[in-house]
Amino acid sequence: AAKHAGGSTYRFYEESMSVTAEHRRLLEIDLRRALSRDEFEVHYQPQVDPKTGKVQGAEALARWRHPTRGMIPPAEFIPVAEEISLIGDIGAWILRAACVEASTWPHDITVAVNLSSVQLRDKSFPLTVLSALEASGLPASRLELEITESALMQDEALAFDTLQTLRAMGIRISMDDFGTGYSSLNYLRRFPFSKIKIDQSFIRHAPQDYECVAIIQAITTLASKLHMCVTVEGVETDEQRAFTIAEGCDQIQGYLISRPVDAASMRQFLREPSQKAA
Ligand code: C2E
Ligand code: MG
Ligand code: MG
Ligand code: MG
Repeated sequence: AAKHAGGSTYRFYEESMSVTAEHRRLLEIDLRRALSRDEFEVHYQPQVDPKTGKVQGAEALARWRHPTRGMIPPAEFIPVAEEISLIGDIGAWILRAACVEASTWPHDITVAVNLSSVQLRDKSFPLTVLSALEASGLPASRLELEITESALMQDEALAFDTLQTLRAMGIRISMDDFGTGYSSLNYLRRFPFSKIKIDQSFIRHAPQDYECVAIIQAITTLASKLHMCVTVEGVETDEQRAFTIAEGCDQIQGYLISRPVDAASMRQFLREPSQKAA
């Protein structure tokens, strides 16, 4: 009987494994077809001055509208795209779509696009950026590229080379999710980022949590001494917004202002930001 139970336990384990593998295999097949079937979308989340609410820019966030599974968030498909070497094509598509869209916005509004570590290590990536700018007519000064510390960590020398080239083209580089990685201060010393985005985990417990408050204050001071702007990500309450004003943060982004919205809603938001924010 023990052997039987063991056998069925094993079989159960094997079945659930193969379901996961099957799910993953289907996701890969679908992902390979998604570009040609036009299933990706770029949504936008406004970045505003916390004091005035004035829109300064928007972050482009990738979405996959799967024909049967509905909207799939980037955390689910970007890692898979990286593994099966599709991130270059998908990332180039997202970049171009974001630049084309931003070229229709008022001329003082920037667009921020997230980069994968794979794109950062691709020597031809600056050319991809150049072609997106040329195709859209968007000036380089209105494009920001967001990278995380973990993206920098893989093949640092090559990543820094790419960043220098992009900066020389007039593109601004932001350090995303700051505070969650490893040797952050060393990166800030080595590269002139335009902006530090404080990871949303820090504002989540401010202004109640002493440690979170202290960390946000310290990063804001550090950024200002390094002549970098600070964006606080994930601002959800008025109390948190008031806190970012008191601490002199330059920019906020979060559900309080707006969730990420589709391109048409972003255009509407740019016409009437106060109405949407209310
Ligand atoms: P991220 O770059 O740090 O983007 C911010 C994420 O926080 C977004 O999630 C956004 O929807 C979410 N967020 C914004 N405000 C709030 C808030 O007030 N509260 C909460 N709880 N969440 C908020 P999303 O769109 O699911 O993207 C997740 C991550 O996926 C991004 O983190 C970025 O690392 C990655 N990603 C998104 N689009 C792309 C892309 O086009 N390329 C690459 N390589 N990565 C992307
Ligand atoms: Mg980002
Ligand atoms: Mg972030
Ligand atoms: Mg993040």
